[in-house]
Amino acid sequence: MPAPVEQAGPLVEIARFDDAGEFIENVEAPTVIRNESAWREHLSPLAYRVMQEGETEFAFTGEFDDHYVPGVYRCAGCGEALFDSATKYDSETGWPSFWAPISKQNVYSEFDDSWGVRRLEVRCIRCRSHLGHIFKDGPAPTYLRYCINSSALRFFQARRP
Ligand code: FE
Repeated sequence: MPAPVEQAGPLVEIARFDDAGEFIENVEAPTVIRNESAWREHLSPLAYRVMQEGETEFAFTGEFDDHYVPGVYRCAGCGEALFDSATKYDSETGWPSFWAPISKQNVYSEFDDSWGVRRLEVRCIRCRSHLGHIFKDGPAPTYLRYCINSSALRFFQARRP
């Protein structure tokens, strides 16, 4: 396996949030580019398969499926804020489900045609890692369901004042 290499890629605009989900500021930050060795060093084996190879965790197995605590879910790849607990709901699908990202800036989506089905994939804007998929069967106000793999997330609990 080649040596781990991490590089700063093109700048992207990212919204920063504290652990209570309060907006702090927009910043320009370099994209995180890592070779395979660096990603394997940085992620658990499961998170590597999910975030770098697009695999999906088995339903009802992830640490955040049945997790309802106030706070912010950050990217396991780069640490940027991705989802606020305020948008998390029980979709009964077995995967953590959110009706919106914490900021539209912090994620992007692409069509994923694997497994012979067209799905909309959602990725982190800063490190380009796969997070999960977006479906149109969510609750109001967006009617979207961001179906996210637990291993792609790290949770930071909101501190009480
Ligand atoms: Fe990321």
